[in-house]
Amino acid sequence: MKCNRNGTFSEGKLKQFGPVELSPSSGILNYGQGLFEGLKAYRKEDGSILLFRPEENASRMKSGAERMCMPSPTIQQFVDAVKLTVLENQRWVPPVGKGSLYIRPLLMGSGPILGLAPAPDYTFLIFVSPVGNYFKEGLAPINLIVETNFHRATPGGTGGVKTIGNYASVLKAQAIAKEKGYSDVLYLDCVNKKYVEEVSSCNIFIVKDNIISTPEIYGTILPGITRKSIIQVARNQGYQVEERLVSVEELLDADEVFCTGTAVVVSPVGSITYQGKRVEYGNQGVGVVSQELYSALTNLQNGITEDNMGWTVKLN
Ligand code: PMP
Repeated sequence: MKCNRNGTFSEGKLKQFGPVELSPSSGILNYGQGLFEGLKAYRKEDGSILLFRPEENASRMKSGAERMCMPSPTIQQFVDAVKLTVLENQRWVPPVGKGSLYIRPLLMGSGPILGLAPAPDYTFLIFVSPVGNYFKEGLAPINLIVETNFHRATPGGTGGVKTIGNYASVLKAQAIAKEKGYSDVLYLDCVNKKYVEEVSSCNIFIVKDNIISTPEIYGTILPGITRKSIIQVARNQGYQVEERLVSVEELLDADEVFCTGTAVVVSPVGSITYQGKRVEYGNQGVGVVSQELYSALTNLQNGITEDNMGWTVKLN
């Protein structure tokens, strides 16, 4: 779908996957004017296909577009385009238990602009790819290192929106961590260097004395849709959940730590290394709460348990 700076997006067309033609002076190539989303389609036992909360991705893209001086498709246009793309590619949605179809909507400044300014024209596109289950055999804990020299986001910056540049800025820290054998990096706030923010591509939760806490969203953390869903699922299961500042000391002292995201779903944390000290969590990191929430969410997403929340959208 395309539109100009002030316009509304026109009806989109299905196209074979392939290269996208861009002007060398396009807004995205020169000034990083781009946003993306990530969501999944799941196949149910009866062969039908479910989307999980696509309107949440649509509205996150809309608020991100506002921050990035871009027009965005309406919620309806976004959801309709996702449905159309998945239906066209339904043969690629893996069978139950074998993974899902990852859906990547992308919005970019595709028009040419030389001086620093928003691009004159915009393109919204969607591509899909089948992906396996993140955990092939049960839950496998990840090992994180707390990073104090690199920051993912600064107050007043774009950390709270899903803009492409946020991901370029974490590549170096992530590469160093991986070289040292860690799964990923956990970032602290850049003002106090004391409060936990998030991992390169997922949100974080701690459990202490059966109370679940997660850093509150205050501009430098991406408002994850899995995070929002897990807060609700946990409250429905009777847990007390707090959204607040979480210090690195609390993190190290937690009974359980887990990450949430579209890709990782609910991923237990086995260990955290901070200033050279490694803290390991009980039961090799696979805590009772993480397991319970993982099952509750994945059963809902896969249509195994009844969706009382109205979160799944049936496609066929
Ligand atoms: N934080 C960041 C930086 C991310 O890239 C993601 C993945 N979109 C998340 C958190 C988790 O968000 P969601 O649950 O919507 O996938």
